[in-house]
Amino acid sequence: MSQQVRVRFAPSPTGYLHVGGARTALFNWLYARKTGGKFILRIEDTDVERSTQESTDGLLKDLKWLGLTWDEGPEVGGNYGPYYQSERLEIYQKYARELMDKGYAYPCFCTEEELEAKRQKAEEEHRSVHYDQTCLKLSKEEVQKRIAAGESYVIRVKVPEKDYVLEDEVRGRVEWKAGTLGDFIILRSSGMPVYNFCVVVDDAAMEITHVVRAEEHLTNTHRQLILYEALGKKPPIFSHASLILGPDKSKLSKRHGATAVGQYAIDGFLPEALVNFLALLGWNEGNDREIYSVKELIEHFELNRISKSPGVFDHNKLVWMNGQHLRAMSVDELLPMVAPVLKDAMPNDKRLENPEILRKLIELIQVKMNLINDAVEVAKSFLTAQEPENEEAAQLISTEKSLKLFEALAQEFEKCEWIKEGYNAAIKAAGKIAEAKGKDLFMPIRVKITGTCHGPDLVGILDVLGRDEVISRLKSTSER
Ligand code: GLU
Repeated sequence: MSQQVRVRFAPSPTGYLHVGGARTALFNWLYARKTGGKFILRIEDTDVERSTQESTDGLLKDLKWLGLTWDEGPEVGGNYGPYYQSERLEIYQKYARELMDKGYAYPCFCTEEELEAKRQKAEEEHRSVHYDQTCLKLSKEEVQKRIAAGESYVIRVKVPEKDYVLEDEVRGRVEWKAGTLGDFIILRSSGMPVYNFCVVVDDAAMEITHVVRAEEHLTNTHRQLILYEALGKKPPIFSHASLILGPDKSKLSKRHGATAVGQYAIDGFLPEALVNFLALLGWNEGNDREIYSVKELIEHFELNRISKSPGVFDHNKLVWMNGQHLRAMSVDELLPMVAPVLKDAMPNDKRLENPEILRKLIELIQVKMNLINDAVEVAKSFLTAQEPENEEAAQLISTEKSLKLFEALAQEFEKCEWIKEGYNAAIKAAGKIAEAKGKDLFMPIRVKITGTCHGPDLVGILDVLGRDEVISRLKSTSER
């Protein structure tokens, strides 16, 4: 029986959840959901100065908003905890000591000044600047004496003189030649472990089977393979996804627009759309399909279809994709998201208190929206009476024929039944009286009522505005 897939997202809580981080989380999550495995969230907060509770809270909130729920980790617990690295310090220290006892690592008493002097000298002599293993040559007795005397030391891993090969699921074969690395530090003199060491200890202890992360960690994998070997653990399967670029092909940054997931939530994007968009930033099924529901992504996702070439973050495409998802949603799904936005923007509009009108309104404006926040502008364009949008529109409603039409229509609307068939019959009757047909009939009515030549379905607008408001607008003698 094959082993259960265990993947993880391991953010450092030193800032907000970046869209790049969210993509990493998503790839891991999709793989876990696809394979019936476990998605683990581990908070890498060993950098005490830069890690904050606020960032952790923000990360958890944004992951939840995206729907990337974790099976083990903060808030939910699990059998492999603790899931905060800051609570695992003793574990790292224990493993570092163990490596030292077995001869895979050794204490190094060299001071910063000594190391700097060594580096400078090596540079001047055009030699490798790797640590020169001074402390590896110390005798056991000497080491014990200096430790007992309270001298401060770091722990370095002894890098074997051999090549390392990674068979990356995305990048293929990656090789590191012997001699490219010096003996690196795994535990600082403060007792704090370094990133590469914690990651390996944790991934091994948490029985992670697959690591999916960004390309920027590829070089770290060399050190990590050395550590797996020293610890006698089997490395997971690695997949390094490409970077995300801005449209100008430079590394995605704030210059290109929002990079914080939380900002997309504020700006009225749907989590499903952002998930769809992020999935396609560096993954595809081998065709040019663009719209996927989360369920479909889970169904089609494969690690080996993560792309080697960078993904380009095209904001306009994200807006378009959001519109596609939004328009595919039911009024029931949209209601809890759109209603608060509308009520917030128009707190005194009593119509928004009426559930039936609210539903009709959402149905009407949905087709004109890309973002949730677009609801306000689209709804306001007819909920509040508007002056004609331009000269042409003003002309259209001031002809004698139009004036006659509005008068007749106001009368017909007074007496018709206020349902779709009713207004249609009234419009037809008024058209007969004013001798107006087709575009000549509908366009002036639309402009008179909404001020614009384009917009949502006219019948829907009548429905939402209600008889009194519509008649009052028809009778209004202002420019409208
Ligand atoms: N804490 C690391 C980061 O935020 C995790 C890297 C990894 O996935 O190994 O980038």
